[in-house]
Amino acid sequence: IEDFFKCFQISCQGATSITTFADFLCSKIDPGLRLAIYDKTALVIAERMRSEIRDFNGSRANLEVCILKYLAQEENFEKFKLYIHSPADFLESYIQTHVKTYCLDQNSRLVMFLNETLTQYYEEIQKAVFTSTTVVKDRIGSNKIISLWLDEFCRELGGVLRLPRSDLVGIEHLEITDIEFLNNAMTEALSPLRDRLKEEFAHADLSSFEKQPHTILLEHFPGCKEQCPFCWAVCTNTIPNHDGDHQLVFHRPQVLGRYRWYKTDNLVIDICSSSVASDCRFRIGEDKWIPYKKYRDAGHPFCTWNILPDTSMQKYWKWFVSHFRAQLEELYNGKFHGRGEIPASWHTITKQEALDELR
Ligand SMILES: [Zn+2]
Ligand SMILES: [Zn+2]
Repeated sequence: IEDFFKCFQISCQGATSITTFADFLCSKIDPGLRLAIYDKTALVIAERMRSEIRDFNGSRANLEVCILKYLAQEENFEKFKLYIHSPADFLESYIQTHVKTYCLDQNSRLVMFLNETLTQYYEEIQKAVFTSTTVVKDRIGSNKIISLWLDEFCRELGGVLRLPRSDLVGIEHLEITDIEFLNNAMTEALSPLRDRLKEEFAHADLSSFEKQPHTILLEHFPGCKEQCPFCWAVCTNTIPNHDGDHQLVFHRPQVLGRYRWYKTDNLVIDICSSSVASDCRFRIGEDKWIPYKKYRDAGHPFCTWNILPDTSMQKYWKWFVSHFRAQLEELYNGKFHGRGEIPASWHTITKQEALDELR
């Protein structure tokens, strides 16, 4: 209704209504421009973080290593718990926290990037005004000149923001002949729009984005989310829903998958890749025993994993089990004794040694 009123107003004022025409057009540009600026800025933030922050400038495997380092440095068991139990949630919140810090710390990068994008798009719009005017110049006298101008203008801006030509049919029949004056009128009408956006951006936070920057950054690290049924480590395949078996290089002590030795309180410190080469068995359901060597016979999800026999364990997890022994015993309701006795050699591994090996 407001549109109709504006069009009516413009029509009544006839040929002298260039200013109102420009104001109307700017009011149509406004929502698309705002959206385009946020969308573009989200991309810029993700890109900049990819290039400036070590955690994000490599592969998913590199990011995983950075996360392990971070966890060790923090030495916060609650964070480890989230990482082990919900790795996908942990990854998302890890990235989200970094985005928040990057955008909202004392450098106010969010405001800076929004303003940069605004400047860039504002210039694009001005360029589109000039280009459209230049293109239709030699058609002066045609009663279709405004319609032609709008065709050109929408085409020019097509790659920048959403401005459907159909939204502008109400003003296309105006008899505006002073096409040169339109340049100035548009510049004048655009300027308050720019100031308003600038004002808004000064108080912007991450909730203003339709698509969150951290979601875009997360998309740079796609991967399978399946977890090893024994140790809950995440499959390292970088293709979600990939063909073939799930697989990973570094399995972890099976206590992390809640394994205990049968009818004891002994927590399992063995890693799955060494268990599958042993003569041990594991239980599924109430009373079904499967030899580790034939773990695939246990059905889903075991049959979807390719666990290669390998007895080597990362120092990191030896350090972790030794360091958080008490918390792990409480969390998994068992003890590191009997068959779960932690080897003396694990206790001597320092955090630094564990971290050095991750490089
Ligand atoms: Zn495993
Ligand atoms: Zn997988």
